Amino acid sequence: MKVPAPCVAASVAAAGALLLKLYSRERGRVSVVERFPATVDGKVVVMVTGGSGLVGCGIEAALRKSPNANERWVFLSSKDGDLRDSEAVRKIYAKHRPTYVIHLAARVGGLYANMTYKVQFWRDNVAINDNVMHWAKEYHVKKLISCLSTCIFPDKTSYPIDETMIHNGPPHSSNEGYAYAKRMIDVLNRAYNSQYGCKFTSIVPTNIFGPGDNFSITDGHVLPGLMHKCLLAQKGETDEFTIWGSGTPLRQFIYNEDLGALVLWVMREYEDCEPIILSVGEEDEVSIKDAAMAVVKGMEYTGPVRFDTSKSDGQFKKTASNAKLRRLHPDFQFTPFAQAVASTCEWFKENYETARK
Ligand code: NAP
Ligand code: GDP
Repeated sequence: MKVPAPCVAASVAAAGALLLKLYSRERGRVSVVERFPATVDGKVVVMVTGGSGLVGCGIEAALRKSPNANERWVFLSSKDGDLRDSEAVRKIYAKHRPTYVIHLAARVGGLYANMTYKVQFWRDNVAINDNVMHWAKEYHVKKLISCLSTCIFPDKTSYPIDETMIHNGPPHSSNEGYAYAKRMIDVLNRAYNSQYGCKFTSIVPTNIFGPGDNFSITDGHVLPGLMHKCLLAQKGETDEFTIWGSGTPLRQFIYNEDLGALVLWVMREYEDCEPIILSVGEEDEVSIKDAAMAVVKGMEYTGPVRFDTSKSDGQFKKTASNAKLRRLHPDFQFTPFAQAVASTCEWFKENYETARK
């Protein structure tokens, strides 16, 4: 666990003294519910599950630019406990007593990992989400923000996709396990709100990339996978830079540092329980071929490039509307795609030995 602000054990103990024990009836039995003060030492506690991952890195970068002395941030990794285990999650809530929870932890992967491990994507994510939501309710978390994805939307749909369309038809078959597990977060956000009055909401990012990504060639998303393959080709460790599929599918990419800034905005200012798409505009959608060419430029690679069309293309497009975001946060500026790709290539080269890959 990383705690950027000083962790004041004494203040936690003092807060513990204020702990109120309430009794509630649930499913016919009496259970003890612990209610903690909304602040510790006058600070709200923001707990980030999956804080060691790509989006967690983006939030940390955004916090460096936009700190708030009234917030104490706790970034969790799997080393702090396996969130598939209910008792481990209870202990995490009891220890940190979060006011807000940003729930990022998930089994995450690119198209090819999703196609291979559908059962694990379903089981791990359902277990993690069920535990994080249940204990957020039990510990009276003021706001829980969970993370969906535009790849959970129906495969057959009209475009652009908006926040109302999540359940309008089956997802693409390549990621059924992940998509249905994620969709249930949206269902449960409404259920917890209607049954218990919880403020549980969700964000819906598009394809994310940036420093701290998983650069695994087999399991990662397209941009980190391409960056890794391109770097190996540039170093002469492979004969050519291979792009999988036809290169024609379209994607909207979001830089993790931009997403981090938007997550801070959602945490501090977005009060709705309904999901919000966090995406660049429809006009910024690019083909996989164009994305690969941005990687070629970012890596300053000059060797041969090939498409391996024996590999699946996955869903052709998932074009999402960011009209809701634009309406509520009109001034937000996204980092230009080529600049963000070049920065990420630079980061990967500099951190090659330690990067996840
Ligand atoms: P990531 O880089 O793979 O990080 C995953 C995080 O979850 C890590 O901190 C990992 O901990 C933690 N985690 C995984 N399994 C866990 C478990 N069983 N118990 C505890 N912690 C566990 O993922 P990301 O790309 O930041 O994704 C964050 C969120 O964004 C996810 O909900 C994902 O579905 C969503 N999303 C991602 C994308 C994308 O393109 N990446 C697009 C749309 C939505 P360790 O570091 O210790 O392994
Ligand atoms: P998606 O956006 O959820 O479908 O997942 P990805 O980030 O894995 O992107 C998949 C798209 O990128 C498909 O059209 C793939 O054919 C294409 N692609 C091209 N090269 C690669 C690669 O090296 N890795 C991955 N994951 N996808 C690639």
